[in-house]
Amino acid sequence: MRYKILLVEDSKVIQQMYRNKLLLEEFTVVTADNGMEAIKILSQEKPDLILLDLMMPVMDGYKVLQVVKTDSKLSGIPVLVFSAQGQPEEIERALNLGAAGYFVKATSKPEKVVDKIRLILSQKLKNQEVAHYSLEIRNDTYDAVKLASDFSLNEMKCPNCQQPMLLSLIPDFSHEATWFCGKFYCPKCEG
Ligand SMILES: [Zn+2]
Repeated sequence: MRYKILLVEDSKVIQQMYRNKLLLEEFTVVTADNGMEAIKILSQEKPDLILLDLMMPVMDGYKVLQVVKTDSKLSGIPVLVFSAQGQPEEIERALNLGAAGYFVKATSKPEKVVDKIRLILSQKLKNQEVAHYSLEIRNDTYDAVKLASDFSLNEMKCPNCQQPMLLSLIPDFSHEATWFCGKFYCPKCEG
């Protein structure tokens, strides 16, 4: 199976360089010159990974990250960011928005970027066997007391029907490690 990479980069020279490298490594490559174009492509096709520049005209990479990570149909696509700069606050902002990794263009060889892409994709494949879980939390263990009080759940019970609330774990494939988003729900009231 050939993985499809969406390469978003406004510099034609860099776009061409990475496109050639990725094609050589037997990836399928779709390119976009800016964030707006990337979003348009994402409405039509689903890449396995997005390689995203940050500083671009029309729509920058931060905005693309935000759109991808808040859309439930897209949020599972890992986004690897590469940028001209490597300021700590810039890296932190991208990672906080859900980037799976960060490269500084000037100091990163394309081989390293490809290695990282392969690592993320193999991780994603493994994680796909991870399902969605529902757990009941015993109200007297570890942080359960604090958790119940922070969320105003009396002994982890549904305020409506007094059934024990469950913690639903939803896999989030945007991280390298196995990762979940969690949500409380009542199996009786919310099915
Ligand atoms: Zn209920």
